[in-house]
Amino acid sequence: MAGIEAEIPYNVIIIGSGLAGLQCAVILGRKGYRVLVLEKNEHIGGTLQSFDYKGVSFSTGMHYVGSLDEGQVLNRIFRYFNLFDGIRYKRLDEHGFDVFNIGGKKYAFPMGWSAFENYLKTLFPEETTAIQNYINAVESTVCGQEIFNLENPAATYVEKPSQSINAWDFICNLTQNAELRQVFSALNFVYAGDRNRTPWYVHALINHYFISSSYRVVGASNQIPQRLYQEIEKTGGRVLTMQKVTQLLFNEDHLSGVRCADGNEFKAEMIISNIHPGSTMNLIEPGKIKKSYRNRLEQKTDTLSCFALYLKLKPGKFRYQNFNYNFYLQPDVWYASSYDERLWPEHFFLHFPADEPNPQWVDHLSIVTYMSFEEVSMWKDLPSNARGIGYKQFKKEKAEKLLALVLLQFPELENLITDYTTATPLTFREYVGSPTGSMYGTLRDYKFPLASYVGVRTKIHNLYFTGQNLNLHGVMGVSISALLTCAEFVDLPELLNEINDS
Ligand SMILES: Cc1cc2nc3c(=O)[nH]c(=O)nc-3n(C[C@H](O)[C@H](O)[C@H](O)COP(=O)(O)OP(=O)(O)OC[C@H]3O[C@@H](n4cnc5c(N)ncnc54)[C@H](O)[C@@H]3O)c2cc1C
Repeated sequence: MAGIEAEIPYNVIIIGSGLAGLQCAVILGRKGYRVLVLEKNEHIGGTLQSFDYKGVSFSTGMHYVGSLDEGQVLNRIFRYFNLFDGIRYKRLDEHGFDVFNIGGKKYAFPMGWSAFENYLKTLFPEETTAIQNYINAVESTVCGQEIFNLENPAATYVEKPSQSINAWDFICNLTQNAELRQVFSALNFVYAGDRNRTPWYVHALINHYFISSSYRVVGASNQIPQRLYQEIEKTGGRVLTMQKVTQLLFNEDHLSGVRCADGNEFKAEMIISNIHPGSTMNLIEPGKIKKSYRNRLEQKTDTLSCFALYLKLKPGKFRYQNFNYNFYLQPDVWYASSYDERLWPEHFFLHFPADEPNPQWVDHLSIVTYMSFEEVSMWKDLPSNARGIGYKQFKKEKAEKLLALVLLQFPELENLITDYTTATPLTFREYVGSPTGSMYGTLRDYKFPLASYVGVRTKIHNLYFTGQNLNLHGVMGVSISALLTCAEFVDLPELLNEINDS
């Protein structure tokens, strides 16, 4: 039965309140569109949500952001969205914002490209040509991606050579030095790089983004969706939670609205899906869309999922560190592509939250490492409260194994942990509704640049995509996806001018 909302027509309905969904809602609302965001969860933000556990607030999917220095790209984007208003960001240690332990050897990446260049040249004095070529290649790739510089692109999709070059092959061609190859690739975890598939452009954009400057939010990451929510309200837009969209409604060959799990129906002229393309296809009844298109989107390979360990610590005992710590047991940061559950865990990423009122101490930590969905697939069809003792035991064993690896690096933690909780690929699947709980959405493949690309437009003329499954994941990639989606509705050069002038 249709709900009371059925009579109110919206210009645009956005399915999902991930970062891109909320950003689209702000942009379109400011341009005069009547916008409704529908979110299936109690809280908005997708992977930018945070959760409270025994009195502490843990961020789930945003540990740091890049390019936030004055004038840099994310800084301009955040200004446009008023994301400096009431939210503080802590600049990470410019002498080592990311510390990598790769097979026992430590590297501290300095911030800024000239510092990074000097650092590498000091470490590898025999490799100055390779280092220069690497930096030039990153720079020219990023320059060639106009939209990532907030410049108007010639078209929303133009195949670039950097999309059909394998990142690892490209790096191997720069140098024979095995250690330097690993150091070039060290930021791998933030794009879940697959040695056999990840295109060079993903590596270049991500490295450029974080090495240019790195910051974390002071406090929990959900301040960002909350702030965007206020911006949406200012424009008269609406955000409804606990509204899981279960069906796209058709009027002949175009969409007329959506139906939610509770039977509520909402009408709109246009629909934007901020959810995984495969999950979007599940909202369309058979016969309404070409089978080949549906299959292509449903069968997309995703980036790996993860296991997260959230530790609660005794207050005032464990010092805050102004960097992220990345540990690789083997000297191979491309570990995601040879992931072997029997050897798990061989890696972890440790995030020190920047909190108040005691910024020199942390009372909680997040530790994340890869985990494939297959490891938890035996519980995939069971509701979260009915997975039984086996699932609980699985989580406990994994937590203990991961903690043992962490304690080798941070032995002082041992007596400071008062409690912990975990998240598995099933948790991430529930959080964002992606089929395998993947960390960064669909996997781009240099061998199939076009086929592994998800465009803004779909085979249904008034249905559009946005979010991390498009061009690139992460706060930057997703923000750019929101601009590309909105370019279907508003004048992109004008929008870019507004952002650049913010
Ligand atoms: C562990 C982890 C760590 C990360 N760390 C970083 C980091 O440090 N820096 C960084 O830049 N990026 C990081 N990322 C990536 C970043 O969080 C994501 O790329 C980005 O937030 C994805 O945004 P999105 O707009 O695609 O939406 P998503 O976050 O995917 O949200 C989609 C939303 O849609 C909702 N939804 C799904 N189905 C339905 C439905 N049927 N009806 C209604 N609503 C629905 C979901 O509940 C969710 O709220 C991390 C990700 C993970 C998982």
